[in-house]
Amino acid sequence: MSFPQTPTLERLYQLSPTANAASRATLAALYGHACAPVWNHPAGDRLQADDVEQLARFDKTLHAQRGARMAKPDDDMLAWATSRIAQTPLYRLRFGEGLIERDLEQRWQELPTTSREDVAMHADRLTPDDVALKRMIIYRTAGTTGHALLVPQDALAVASYIPLLNVALARYGVDTRFAPEETACFLVGSQRHTVTYPTVMAAWGGAGFAKLNLFSDEWPDVNARRAFFGHFRPRIFSGDPLSFADMLDADIGGGAKALVTTAVAMSTALKQKLQDAYGCPVIDWYSLTETGPLGYACPQGHGYHWLPHDVHLETLDADGQPTTGIGEITVTGGRNPFIPLLRYRTSDWGRLDYTPCPCGDPMPRLKQLDGRSPVVFRAVAGARVTTQDVATVLRRYPLVQHRFVQWENAACELTYRTLASAAWPRDELEAELRLLLGQSMTLIEDLQLGYRGMADKVIPYVSKMIEE
Ligand SMILES: [Zn+2]
Repeated sequence: MSFPQTPTLERLYQLSPTANAASRATLAALYGHACAPVWNHPAGDRLQADDVEQLARFDKTLHAQRGARMAKPDDDMLAWATSRIAQTPLYRLRFGEGLIERDLEQRWQELPTTSREDVAMHADRLTPDDVALKRMIIYRTAGTTGHALLVPQDALAVASYIPLLNVALARYGVDTRFAPEETACFLVGSQRHTVTYPTVMAAWGGAGFAKLNLFSDEWPDVNARRAFFGHFRPRIFSGDPLSFADMLDADIGGGAKALVTTAVAMSTALKQKLQDAYGCPVIDWYSLTETGPLGYACPQGHGYHWLPHDVHLETLDADGQPTTGIGEITVTGGRNPFIPLLRYRTSDWGRLDYTPCPCGDPMPRLKQLDGRSPVVFRAVAGARVTTQDVATVLRRYPLVQHRFVQWENAACELTYRTLASAAWPRDELEAELRLLLGQSMTLIEDLQLGYRGMADKVIPYVSKMIEE
């Protein structure tokens, strides 16, 4: 995969339009540090002054509305859903015209659910008629868990991750007030290829942020990572468990006040090791590209607290009926104006607990959240290949769903369902996967993949090899 050239500093300034002089100086320092890696992507929060004001209002409401929730959607949510059904082509088609709020309240459980497949196949028809298209930014999902998706996003919706993250960090006693001279957070990855950039975040007072790849050949020399991390010493690190394991191996990340893990669940053993080594909390974070952040792990270990005030969560059984037991986590609401989520099935399963939590957070909890363990594949010489590496290959092909398995004998098998009825270069996909892993590779088309109910929950990456 090829990335654009290193962006100019001027371009990065443009992408952070509200950055003041101190904030720009932080960005310049990250960008131009002698030990900085090769930056390969232009990114910034793109927030305008009125967005920053709106974000402050969101933050206020988020704090004000943390309280007990009901199993039924509240009036605000019903009003929102009614308006989105009226404005969104796909929902008009599916739910019928002229639904009124009162109907919706009574008929909520009859509303058809939506899924990842709707986002994959009908994203254009999910965009409401009344949104400002010029604000749209297209995001590719990280692709670590399901299949990669192209998700239209809005700068303000993306920036709202930070107030949500701050709520979780505050519950762990982490101070998230930052000066523009500081660096707030490094988002670390450890992959063959990933985008990297430095920026500053208006939502963190204009403090610095960098997306980094620990993979060694991205850095000027062997000691550069250590020098770069040591110079900026952000308080917060965000990343997946494997990246944190690599960070620990490289003995970098000193000064961390919190490690926030994304995308996949972490083993208790690694979590303990990281907590001991860095002397700070390791916070599990439940977030999907389509929905934004949904939950964070209770500081006392009682499940994941429901995080945003502007989503409604339900759990549905295999027949699509609400259940008080373990069910599929289903989301309505959120902040993405281009994908209004209506009873969106996440493919994640868990149980909602509305009883008060001893930790004091009044929001309900998701329990037995079916966290997916990190999966690592082995290339023929024993080299590690991550799910992201495989996803980078897969996302270039029109697959809707897939299951990639490495068997005990190291042979690999990809089962997939495609988006396209037209011809696509299946041989090229096979050749690329062979090249990546060097292992025996079988491709199987399964038109029913993901359609067989709960028992057929499609786990996208599985390794049967015994890990050392
Ligand atoms: Zn709790």
